[in-house]
Amino acid sequence: MSEAKAVERFDLSITTPAGPIAATVELPPGFVPVTQIVPLMRRLGEQAQALEKQRVVASGQTISCAKGCAACCRMLVPVSPPEAFALRAMVAGLSVERRQAYLRSVADALAQLDRAGLLARLRHLADTDRPMTDEEMEPINRAYFALKLPCPFLDHEQCSIYEDRPAACRELLVTSPADWCQDMVNKPVRALPVPLRIGTILGLLWSTLAGETPRLIPLPLALEWADRHEAENRSSWKAKDLLDKALDQIWRILSQKHSR
Ligand code: SF4
Repeated sequence: MSEAKAVERFDLSITTPAGPIAATVELPPGFVPVTQIVPLMRRLGEQAQALEKQRVVASGQTISCAKGCAACCRMLVPVSPPEAFALRAMVAGLSVERRQAYLRSVADALAQLDRAGLLARLRHLADTDRPMTDEEMEPINRAYFALKLPCPFLDHEQCSIYEDRPAACRELLVTSPADWCQDMVNKPVRALPVPLRIGTILGLLWSTLAGETPRLIPLPLALEWADRHEAENRSSWKAKDLLDKALDQIWRILSQKHSR
């Protein structure tokens, strides 16, 4: 009988602009898909964001975000390719009934975007090999928010995929009055700084793994994008190599922040 290889354990510690964060990671032997790294990365991002939140609260400010307020679930949420694959796998693992309900919600959202003349622009955004500038994104974000289109995963003003929601959904917290979020164009909200933007980091990780332009996919298009790129999602990497590459992206982003 061959002896099963044990998992390898690593203690991570990272100094973010909000303070130090740490995690113990257990890596399986052998090769894993890119989706394997997503939960760890989101955990690190949440730790860093919790430190930022503590700092803001300690300074006497109040976080306005609360359960039942879903104004930000009508914004254009960017999803990294590894998260798009993870979302697709999550939906594929649901009961037929729930899966069909989500697919109908997504189809409805895409139809509304199409009627508003936004769908082609968003598909271009998901597929382009040229990263969009902030100036190019601004009118798209505004047009999207003006539609007040609820996220396909929003149910009675609550996230129905809370544990699996994208990193971008975990990062937006505001100290401005909650009702400002209903009218962000005229009332720019005060958002907390994001110490580790995990969606960006996962997007950069995927670009190095796949050898392509970093991209972020609008959330309603994430499932169709993951469907079209399923062949790439069958690739796998040694777990330790994947972790090293992800940490490398974190350090690159942090070193850019520190050098500013
Ligand atoms: S995934 Fe959840 S938290 Fe994110 S926009 Fe959709 S409903 Fe809101």
